[in-house]
Amino acid sequence: RKGNVIITGASSGLGLATAKALAETGKWHIIMACRNFLKAERAAKSAGIAKESYTVMHLDLASLDSVRQFSENFRRSGRPLDVLVCNAAVYLPTAKEPSFTAEGFELSVGTNHLGHFLLSRLLLDDMKQSDYTSKRVIIVGSITGNTNTLAGNVPPKANLGDLRGLAGGLNRLNSSPMIDGGDFDGAKAYKDSKVCNMLTMQEFHRRYHEETGITFASLYPGCIATTGLFREHIPLFRLLFPPFQKYITKGYVSEEEAGKRLAQVVGDPSLTNSGVYWSWNKNSASFQNQLSKEASDAEKARKVWEISEKLVGLA
Ligand code: NDP
Repeated sequence: RKGNVIITGASSGLGLATAKALAETGKWHIIMACRNFLKAERAAKSAGIAKESYTVMHLDLASLDSVRQFSENFRRSGRPLDVLVCNAAVYLPTAKEPSFTAEGFELSVGTNHLGHFLLSRLLLDDMKQSDYTSKRVIIVGSITGNTNTLAGNVPPKANLGDLRGLAGGLNRLNSSPMIDGGDFDGAKAYKDSKVCNMLTMQEFHRRYHEETGITFASLYPGCIATTGLFREHIPLFRLLFPPFQKYITKGYVSEEEAGKRLAQVVGDPSLTNSGVYWSWNKNSASFQNQLSKEASDAEKARKVWEISEKLVGLA
């Protein structure tokens, strides 16, 4: 049978390119988990993804009710779940004030981390039941959350501190909207959320890999300077960022190439290592990359996991 893969945020950018790359192999049925049903349908159609190889299902990661509803709807569809890709993200670099999810968490960490945290925890049981040979949970990371790299050292740097803001629920009433308890900074909130994504992947590996055989992995697909992720940025930035990445940092990848990379992590028989973070070199060959000190801190990963469980109502 075909493998079944859920991709969150498959309505544009990396998620859409990955859906297309997987559909073209003929080996996958893609569940596009998207907040805007019509946009996702249109995107799939204009990308030329064959009708029989995808299903769009509604998921708004900025609402935990929606995450629970999605998991139930998926279960009711009767499809086995073989691979889950946590790809969706919001990035609000120019926001002066924080925005909040339905439950009142700061929007970037609430969507990118907490929404995916609940989703992957709820769907783990479904994955355990699948008889697929290489089951995987892939969480898209980023170089920007990784302070052992040049890009990760552009201020404001990711820093989760002692997690006091996260423990306080990331809202203004109890504490601050930032994980470390500091003042709101949209660019930093995004980077912090990506550190949480990478820590979550490793904590999943420690807790569940041996018992379930599921591969847990993260990746940095390269700088895809053309995606909607930068839609909130000032126009001059959006004009100059792609050529800057292409010719100066040379970290630029096309959406198509990035989609192929994520598709490898989903289905390539040689990329089965668990607990790892994939990157690609200049020749587009994959290798296991090092994470920064904070993004590989096991004690912090455990704490983020435990606090997140409380926030999403699992503990
Ligand atoms: P896009 O903005 O193109 O895609 C993000 C996707 O997330 C969109 O489909 C968007 O939906 C979806 N999304 C946002 N909020 C929600 C929500 N509340 N519920 C459900 N879906 C939501 O950006 P990219 O393709 O660039 O980003 C994809 C991933 O790649 C992210 O995890 C990002 O951190 C990562 N990444 C990107 C890099 C880059 O250079 N672009 C570099 C490294 C990592 P909608 O279409 O409705 O807006």
